[in-house]
Amino acid sequence: MSDVLVFVEFSDGAATKAGLQALGAGSTLAKALGGKAIALVIGNNAGELGKHGADRVLVAGGDAVGSYSPDGFARIVAEHAKSTGAAAVLASATPMGKDFFARAAAIAKCGLAADCVELKVEGGKPRAVRPVFAGKALATVEAPGTLWATLRPNVFAEVSGGSDAAPETVPVTFGPGDLKAVVKEIVAGVKGKLDVAEAEIVVSGGRGLKDPAGEGKQNWANLEALAETLGAAIGASRAVVDAGWRGHGEQVGQTGKTVSPKLYIACGISGAIQHLAGMSGSKVIVAINKDDNAPIFKVADYGIVGTVEDVVPALTAALKETLGS
Ligand SMILES: Cc1cc2nc3c(=O)[nH]c(=O)nc-3n(C[C@H](O)[C@H](O)[C@H](O)COP(=O)(O)OP(=O)(O)OC[C@H]3O[C@@H](n4cnc5c(N)ncnc54)[C@H](O)[C@@H]3O)c2cc1C
Repeated sequence: MSDVLVFVEFSDGAATKAGLQALGAGSTLAKALGGKAIALVIGNNAGELGKHGADRVLVAGGDAVGSYSPDGFARIVAEHAKSTGAAAVLASATPMGKDFFARAAAIAKCGLAADCVELKVEGGKPRAVRPVFAGKALATVEAPGTLWATLRPNVFAEVSGGSDAAPETVPVTFGPGDLKAVVKEIVAGVKGKLDVAEAEIVVSGGRGLKDPAGEGKQNWANLEALAETLGAAIGASRAVVDAGWRGHGEQVGQTGKTVSPKLYIACGISGAIQHLAGMSGSKVIVAINKDDNAPIFKVADYGIVGTVEDVVPALTAALKETLGS
């Protein structure tokens, strides 16, 4: 038991960034265990996962899994966890991974370490590290048998190179009629908009930016300009989303999305524990707040005490000059 099975998520015919990161993490873990990284793709196209660290690529396709089914995907992953005898079974903690991976682990009669930020080998066994108590502490998880884990996006690196592994088609042992639920339709969000959970840079706005339908109109336009200059996605605190100022898809935090970008700029956000739970894993945190006692400064690498009205446009202008954009 030293191989690692990784479910690699695909979207629009290509592996997602989070899926390749999970494969990278699986490849590194498999090497440390002295085993192979086995990518599992559900669909009809496996891409070239050997170039992203897979030693073997299993492809489960056909009518039964023509569209996403939490039930069907869980059964396939559980079956291949068993057939490969993997020491660890991984997926990314994306909405899809969160939706079906716990079901897959349950079918395999295993527990699941969710939203992990580190994988390691100790005493020859795989272990996963995950934040607990809204990110206040880290727990190291070891499983009695196979370790099942979902991995937080943007924490693990993709790997390049590896094998020329040709896809191996594996049978799906059930038909469409056996599934309890299938997804009938996926409605795309605003086209071209960068998802806050996938972005490398996130610029987030809080209640300090004020109502965009009133006195905050210019502040939000300034925030959009800063995000555009940096090629960043916009995030928001729950206060902003609850007020209906921004959509829930942008909410960062315990009841929103977990982000781990290279750069997180929090503007007019106090830094409540529930917000920190979703962004404290960011590599570099910049906070702009007029209150020098705001809790956000405790987690910030760089803090700017000032109003968003003054600081955000000045920062955008300086960045435009530096970046020549
Ligand atoms: C169960 C539960 C789950 C929750 N989940 C989430 C979650 O997922 N995400 C989340 O964000 N919150 C969540 N919350 C809410 C959280 O507790 C806070 O209420 C929320 O994060 C506050 O948002 P905020 O920082 O935008 O607003 P506030 O706390 O009101 O902070 C506004 C900040 O803006 C600053 N400010 C004001 N004017 C200016 C200005 N002109 N220039 C610069 N700074 C200014 C103020 O100094 C203040 O620090 C949750 C709460 C609960 C109970």
